[in-house]
Amino acid sequence: MPYNLAQRILVTGGSGFLGSHLCERLLANGAEVLCVDNFFTGTRGNVEHLLDHHRFELLRHDVTFPLYVEVDQIYNLACPASPVHYQHDPVQTTKTSVIGAINMLGLAKRLKVSILQASTSEVYGDPTVHPQTEDYWGNVNPIGPRSCYDEGKRCAETLFFDYRRQHRLAIKVARIFNTYGPRMHPNDGRVISNFIVQALRGHDITIYGDGLQSRAFCYVDDLIDGLMRLMQSSDDVTGPLNLGNPNEVTMRELAELTIELTGSRSNVVHRPLPQDDPRQRQPDISHANALLGWAPQVSLRQGLARTIAYFEGVLTGSAREPSRSHAASSDARRLERAVPG
Ligand code: NAD
Ligand code: UDP
Ligand code: UDP
Repeated sequence: MPYNLAQRILVTGGSGFLGSHLCERLLANGAEVLCVDNFFTGTRGNVEHLLDHHRFELLRHDVTFPLYVEVDQIYNLACPASPVHYQHDPVQTTKTSVIGAINMLGLAKRLKVSILQASTSEVYGDPTVHPQTEDYWGNVNPIGPRSCYDEGKRCAETLFFDYRRQHRLAIKVARIFNTYGPRMHPNDGRVISNFIVQALRGHDITIYGDGLQSRAFCYVDDLIDGLMRLMQSSDDVTGPLNLGNPNEVTMRELAELTIELTGSRSNVVHRPLPQDDPRQRQPDISHANALLGWAPQVSLRQGLARTIAYFEGVLTGSAREPSRSHAASSDARRLERAVPG
């Protein structure tokens, strides 16, 4: 998928977990990348290794405010993704999804360029259809602690499709399922980062509820490949398209695999299940497969091993990626206070 050398690509949320990998891949393909982020959950350290690149630019900006720049494509990823982070300031989370989407759609409309929205499997809520297909409308609590994220993302999808109908915008909507890998925030409270950090430190592994709830985890490289394929697809491919790895596991199985791969002596303990925690989740990716020729390549075992190696570096203050040493040590300090167990 070679990019035209002159192509200027805006990535909002570009210094977050997924955004930083996307910026890296776009640069490797020859694009000019404008990374926009307010550093709420992302860090400068995530893109530190790109700062000297002559085709990379980093701009501190909050997408809830208008943005006037000149670009050829927009990936809209700005939004905290971990429940702990998005519930920290739920009003800001909704504003980021809704007002952020309006501003980025307004930008795309003025420039007449394609815009991709990082939507989420959370639009399905606690799904009553399993696995989830794109035509399922979801089962979302509109007034619960997860609603700022779920409903914010649902409203953003509505805006994307209304801008298409009303203004003929070239839109792409990806419904991203749980994704993991290096540069996940070590204290973001998501299950993979929690389990790995707890296992490496020999602390108790905290399973919420009975641990029989399921998720399907996609390795970051596969996910980024799917996002880029979606952006490159023809204008009639708008989505929403599920992007995720269909390999479904329970949290108990994930804990066992993490213990095995880390060689940890940690014990498993149970903690209360958070309110509205979805019981099961698994993407049906047949549309993405047919329309984009996309399917994940990295197994959970392989991806977890790579992620464990990354977190080992973070915990010892010598992240495996050489350019991340500064971020790694500050992440390690934050770990001291934030990871349960
Ligand atoms: P992340 O928290 O690491 O990254 C989000 C980035 O957006 C951060 O850099 C943050 O500082 C930035 N941001 C937040 N609010 C902003 C604002 N108002 N203005 C500018 N920047 C802002 O999360 P992530 O896992 O990289 O997720 C990226 C996107 O993908 C999000 O939109 C998320 O909803 C979506 N997504 C992720 C997953 C996943 O499993 N990682 C699953 C579904 C959807
Ligand atoms: N906008 C922006 N950059 C642009 C163009 C628009 O941030 O280059 C924002 C602007 O704040 C506007 C929003 O996008 O409120 C929606 O734009 P649109 O043109 O759809 O609506 P209008 O300007 O008519 O409100
Ligand atoms: N979870 C857990 N222990 C943890 C963190 C999370 O058992 O330390 C559970 C959580 O209750 C949920 C699943 O793992 O059932 C996935 O949680 P995560 O926050 O990673 O993603 P999401 O719920 O948004 O899919």
